[in-house]
Amino acid sequence: MRNFQTELLPEGAKAFINGKWINASNGKLFEVNDPYNNELLCDVANCDVQDAEIGVAAAKQAFQKWGLETTAKERSAILQKWYQLMVQKEGQLAEILTREQGKPLAEARGEIQYSASFLDWYSAEARRIYGQVVPPPVLNRQHFHVREPIGVVVLITPWNFPSAMLTRKAGAALAAGCTIVAKPAEDTPLSALAVAQIAKEAGLPDGVFNVLPADRENTIEISKFICESQDVDAISFTGSTQVGKILLSQSASTVKRVCLELGGNAPFIVFDTANMEKAINGLFASKFRCSGQTCVCANRIYVHQKIHDQFVEGISKAMSKLVLGHGIDKKVTMGPLINKKAIEHLLNDAISKGAKIVLGGKSKPDTTLFEPTIITDVTPEMEIAHTEIFGPIVAIQKFESEEEVIKRANDTRYGLAGIMSCAEAAFGGVKESGLGREGSIQGIDEFTQWKYMCLNTS
Ligand code: ADP
Repeated sequence: MRNFQTELLPEGAKAFINGKWINASNGKLFEVNDPYNNELLCDVANCDVQDAEIGVAAAKQAFQKWGLETTAKERSAILQKWYQLMVQKEGQLAEILTREQGKPLAEARGEIQYSASFLDWYSAEARRIYGQVVPPPVLNRQHFHVREPIGVVVLITPWNFPSAMLTRKAGAALAAGCTIVAKPAEDTPLSALAVAQIAKEAGLPDGVFNVLPADRENTIEISKFICESQDVDAISFTGSTQVGKILLSQSASTVKRVCLELGGNAPFIVFDTANMEKAINGLFASKFRCSGQTCVCANRIYVHQKIHDQFVEGISKAMSKLVLGHGIDKKVTMGPLINKKAIEHLLNDAISKGAKIVLGGKSKPDTTLFEPTIITDVTPEMEIAHTEIFGPIVAIQKFESEEEVIKRANDTRYGLAGIMSCAEAAFGGVKESGLGREGSIQGIDEFTQWKYMCLNTS
């Protein structure tokens, strides 16, 4: 069943295992819907544990060649080809992304460029995964450190950046020589399937990159299996802190490497000496990407009491210009939300405890469009003051002194920011925002092991 046309998803593109488009073993499907109006886009395989076993076995077999008998130069060439094909097909990939995720087309194009950039970066890094020659403490010995691919890795990705979060992980893993089973978010599996189709065209060997869509229920079973499987060597996950903790604890039984990019709760502080225009533009840029649904969006907004009203007026003017609608419409600058229940709850809680709505506050009937919203008089008793909002609500808290605001900004178990993310930079969180780094040369660390070798030279 398909309600839109694209060359990138051939008929029967349900799941991608061992280089082939296949159905789930149980024959089941689930629907992927347009988040704007909930209309059916197409259906994909609802994989279960049996398919995960097949996917992991395919990746394990492919590892023998990709990980152990392929040169860095060969891996680099395939990643480079994959990058070039992604760039050539940017328009088609962006359309799939907008349809399943909702972000405006211009933003979707930006994500595809960003997504492709990781393949370009890691095609170069593949050839620079160097070891070390280490001076030994005694004569007649030579010491070396070499880096080896960790093996089969599972990538679990979120719906807010369904293309870029996949290639950011996959580029590094494949450069290192690992093979992959990817489990895209149930809301947005089409971008991952399209990326797999392009990987095939780029010449990635069968079994090296597998994509298993699954609904939420099957995802929970698959993830448990993966964490406990002795055939999976590492897991890299981007999503909520809550799910990240589940994966970490489930992986304890196999002492698996786990890389986690989790929730954030970034503070944004405007002092009374701030350049007002820059402050407004800065907040706008870091709050409204993906309708406010990113882990690096400014979340707790502290404004000095002296300039509070002026700032609220300025940001309100800027936000009034946002055009809500279907992301495919070129005029639209803010698309629908994947889930509006969570933010409606936060907003109602804040209003019931005394927050005031300055702008917006409503969702459009029969859609998941939510008006760009500003609330003021936010206090620490409100859930919105310390919860990741994941929506277009600017919740403003007043402060009086630098000392006070720094203390409040740091009073969180999260530690994540970085709207300026790029392939060259090592991205990742501290505290309960994550483990490990993605992008840059550090991204390779998650998918390699150091091996120490000692030679007797006497
Ligand atoms: P969000 O709340 O933003 O959807 P999640 O952490 O729930 O973020 O989802 C991110 C990814 O984690 C998705 O691919 C989703 O399918 C997957 N996921 C959700 N729940 C679980 C779970 N219990 N175990 C493993 N993966 C899960």
